[in-house]
Amino acid sequence: MDYKIAVIKGDGIGPEVVDSALEILDAVGAKYGHRFHYTEVLAGGCAYDDCENPLPKETLDVCKASDAVVLGAVGGPKWDDLPGEKRPEAALLGLRKELGLFANLRPAILFGALKDACPLKPEIIKDGLDICVVRELTGGIYFGDRGFKDTDMGPAAYDIEIYAEKEVERIAKVAFDMAMKREKKVMSVDKANILESSRLWRKTVEKVAKDYHEVSLDHMYVDNASMQLIRDPKQFDVIVTTNMFGDILSDEASMITGSIGMLPSASLGGDNKGMYEPVHGSAPDIAGQGKANPLATILSMAMMLKYSFGLGEESDCIEEAVTKALDAGYRTGDIANEGEKVISTAEMTAAVKSYL
Ligand code: ATP
Ligand code: MG
Repeated sequence: MDYKIAVIKGDGIGPEVVDSALEILDAVGAKYGHRFHYTEVLAGGCAYDDCENPLPKETLDVCKASDAVVLGAVGGPKWDDLPGEKRPEAALLGLRKELGLFANLRPAILFGALKDACPLKPEIIKDGLDICVVRELTGGIYFGDRGFKDTDMGPAAYDIEIYAEKEVERIAKVAFDMAMKREKKVMSVDKANILESSRLWRKTVEKVAKDYHEVSLDHMYVDNASMQLIRDPKQFDVIVTTNMFGDILSDEASMITGSIGMLPSASLGGDNKGMYEPVHGSAPDIAGQGKANPLATILSMAMMLKYSFGLGEESDCIEEAVTKALDAGYRTGDIANEGEKVISTAEMTAAVKSYL
């Protein structure tokens, strides 16, 4: 098959890690007989430098006309003093909004070979860890009405948590669809003992679950979930939750893997069109030095193959190659222990490629 992919390399280490990821993607394409057609467009600081707009219209048009978007990273100290709408980060919000990407998927994957980086007890994470947090991205308290008012306690401020049934329905569907491609287990996280919006959330997730007989659904209050993630993370596979709870829990889940250079992410809309990017930022401190760990971006390609293109086998092939490269001891600086040999971005890419 042929696939059209919009490529936004971005700033800092973005171009280095994206080049690496595309090299892997091409190798997988050659192996399985797929052709990936890339259109490179600008967004972020480099786009601002080019035309004083971090998200040019041409970029949006190309992204909309593609089957998926690959993004490196945007931002850096050079653009820190720009006003809000000109900053590189504005490009990310604009892309999410314009492409209707309401679901943010962040897997927390702990590879067996990197167990030492995990702050949890070894017996808890014996065989590695693979949890995926599905965070609602365009609703809830981050987008509800907010403001100030006078109360009998004096001046006050408020933010409203509001969810429409339809918003919950569509994020729940993303979670269940994903669960079907994983362990068929969903944990919905809310605060339904207190919040009305959480009771609607729970009821709606239950309703969606009726269309997925094979998937088991459980509910957990967010306070308990944040504790269970540390106490017994193995009980989770797919976690689906609100914008704010997901913001917090996805950071918590990713830190139990201990390595920012390893974590992929996807932002999806209703039609499975998605944007795929590493969780880490542009890492200006190591940009242009060939030191960046490309694995987060390479693993984002595995997510793209699975979730946007339905290519499960090809996706697994990438994940297995990454696992083998790590098992064989290949380490970029960010994941190397003292005394371990540190390799470059290009060497890590070649290592993964050799195991495809
Ligand atoms: P942003 O605001 O874009 O998130 P940041 O400085 O807050 O940027 P990162 O860019 O993620 O966060 O960098 C945090 C630290 O992690 C830096 O020291 C950086 O060098 C390191 N780092 C991030 N990504 C990688 C990577 N892929 N490989 C190696 N080191 C990385
Ligand atoms: Mg940051």
